[in-house]
Amino acid sequence: MDLATRGLAYGDSTCPMCGVADETADHLLDNCMTTNAVCWMVCVWDKSRCPTALKL
Ligand SMILES: [Zn+2]
Repeated sequence: MDLATRGLAYGDSTCPMCGVADETADHLLDNCMTTNAVCWMVCVWDKSRCPTALKL
């Protein structure tokens, strides 16, 4: 559910991380390339195993 649906939208609802889709929880956690890249870099830095949900 996005912020606009919850009545919390202020202006543009496009994802500020990648700018290619609406800013929703599903997008940020599953489909956002920028967020997934940051998670992947943290896993590399931490030498931890990346979750299989990351789609790079
Ligand atoms: Zn995004």
